[in-house]
Amino acid sequence: MARRTLIAGNWKMNGLIADGIALARDVAAGAAAAGKAELLLCPPVTLVSSVAAALKGSGVAVGGQDCHAKANGAHTGDISAEMLADAGAQYVIVGHSERRTDHGETDGVVRAKTEAAWRAGLSAIVCIGETLAQREAGRTLPLLEAQLRGSIPAGATATKLVVAYEPVWAIGTGKTPTVAEVADAHRHIRAVLGGLTTGADAVRLLYGGSMKPANAPELLAIADVDGGLIGGASLKAGDFLAIAAASTTN
Ligand code: PEP
Repeated sequence: MARRTLIAGNWKMNGLIADGIALARDVAAGAAAAGKAELLLCPPVTLVSSVAAALKGSGVAVGGQDCHAKANGAHTGDISAEMLADAGAQYVIVGHSERRTDHGETDGVVRAKTEAAWRAGLSAIVCIGETLAQREAGRTLPLLEAQLRGSIPAGATATKLVVAYEPVWAIGTGKTPTVAEVADAHRHIRAVLGGLTTGADAVRLLYGGSMKPANAPELLAIADVDGGLIGGASLKAGDFLAIAAASTTN
């Protein structure tokens, strides 16, 4: 099953308007030369619409980093999936470990947000991953399975769902699992997804956690790794594009 590689940048809480637009323009300018991967930028919500405008015509997509489960209402400070779509987003990240940790988001909350994304016509990038303690206790694969079962609503398709495997201990730390550990995790995620949706073979599985130009070739070459969710390295256009260029298969 051919799955187009997706290289997604998660800017997190970084970027004022001028810097964000300049970064988006630099990515857009280099996108064609960086190969065939689909590129996606997920800026802070204040930048979604201006980044969407800066990327217009480049083929680079825009996404949000989170959304509320409801479409509107008395939820001060929150943003709905409909608002993100209205601002030009095609994707939204849900269940990032920083949201799970900083905001106490459970699998049930992530599932409701995924449904909200689909309701608004967005593709949801659902993040799952183990802590170091869970890995050391040998609980990684059962934990990933529980997170998938709890976070993914019925009716998932390859256009509506992307899954990002992000070991919590690898995010922003410079540490990464071995190629064998990533391959094991992704093989297991693919198998569990097979029981949750009929189109599991077509769903893209991203690896995230300290992916850089130097380690991208070996991570992106793993059979069930269909792209990357990139934090720190997405803040430099050259690094982000070099990661994209490292995916040579499709
Ligand atoms: C992330 O936050 O999704 C991430 C992968 O961050 P980093 O690349 O900085 O580890």
